[in-house]
Amino acid sequence: MITRTSAALQSDSTSPDDPASEAVPLTPRQHRQDWQAQLRDAVRDPHELCRRLDLDTAWLGGAETGHALFPVRVPHAYLARIRPGDPDDPLLRQVLPLDRESEPVAGFVGDPLEEAEHRPRPGLIHKYRNRVLLIASPACAINCRYCFRRHFPYAENSPSRGQWETTLDYLRQDTSINEAIFSGGDPLASPDRRLAWLAERLADIPHLKRLRLHTRLPVVIPDRVDSPLLDWLAATRLQTVMVVHINHPNEIDAGVADAMQRLRGAGVTLLNQSVLLRGVNDDVETLARLSERLFEVGILPYYLHVLDPVEGAAHFDVPDAEAVSLVETLRTQLAGFLMPRLVREVPGEASKTPLA
Ligand SMILES: *Cc1c(COP(=O)(O)O)cnc(C)c1O
Ligand code: SF4
Repeated sequence: MITRTSAALQSDSTSPDDPASEAVPLTPRQHRQDWQAQLRDAVRDPHELCRRLDLDTAWLGGAETGHALFPVRVPHAYLARIRPGDPDDPLLRQVLPLDRESEPVAGFVGDPLEEAEHRPRPGLIHKYRNRVLLIASPACAINCRYCFRRHFPYAENSPSRGQWETTLDYLRQDTSINEAIFSGGDPLASPDRRLAWLAERLADIPHLKRLRLHTRLPVVIPDRVDSPLLDWLAATRLQTVMVVHINHPNEIDAGVADAMQRLRGAGVTLLNQSVLLRGVNDDVETLARLSERLFEVGILPYYLHVLDPVEGAAHFDVPDAEAVSLVETLRTQLAGFLMPRLVREVPGEASKTPLA
């Protein structure tokens, strides 16, 4: 959900960039090694996932089937928020592979959104007026079963510095662009030196006002919000916005709350996008608690996306009519500023398309 663009980028990649497979250099910045070590140590084996969570062996076959289609990847900091022994845990459902992922369902396809035509430069998607997406990293910290990215291999890459220069030229030339959005994969899977370099180059472009990051990493591994990240975020002249991705209130533990506070301290405006998911957050009570909990930790609800019809994720689908009805009831339960906008991404439209 953070991005739908990885397919388009496979072809023009040059520098392998899976941070989880990079050797971690010995540096005095211990905290920085820490998040990279956590990425590397993520659970990537369905047996280990089931064992760690005390799941009945009945789940293992399905987990192996799903894992063969899209590998398991769950960092320990996220695993720690899952209730052991509960196959219905709303966080577990987002990461546990199932047999059903291999069942074909009409309308659910490998590539539900085609964006290649909006890619004027490597690593750049210019689809909406005033703002562009920069694919800062193709890797993710976690593999969410409902994700559009599930059909793209991790051997993807991101643009090299040289390729970024042509992207930066494009931004310099189009004075209508006032916002750059770091996306991915997950842009915060990139090392801070690369992100800081890019942020500095962007800040040199006079018509740019804002830098936005679409990321799930501070939620999955709160230690990602360390001083190297905070330093470059606080230093840029651009206004900074972070759109995190949280689907259920149980994802917000004390570590996430602290990370959000550090980000706010660095002057970052915090917003959240969620995906409406069957069996995870498809009820008014959960969505209301999510909004309330987000605000407690300084995040405003932004978007509630309906599911992209991606192959293997049909069991998460909530029909539009039900989604609209949920959101209408939610509106009677929440302050107006705690209401997310229910949207879908329709190829060819000039913005996200509101459903309610
Ligand atoms: C979602 C998206 C954006 C940002 O849209 P907002 O409505 O401003 O949040 C920008 N570019 C692309 C390609 C997107 O998919
Ligand atoms: S964090 Fe999850 S939802 Fe976001 S791009 Fe990665 S796999 Fe997809």
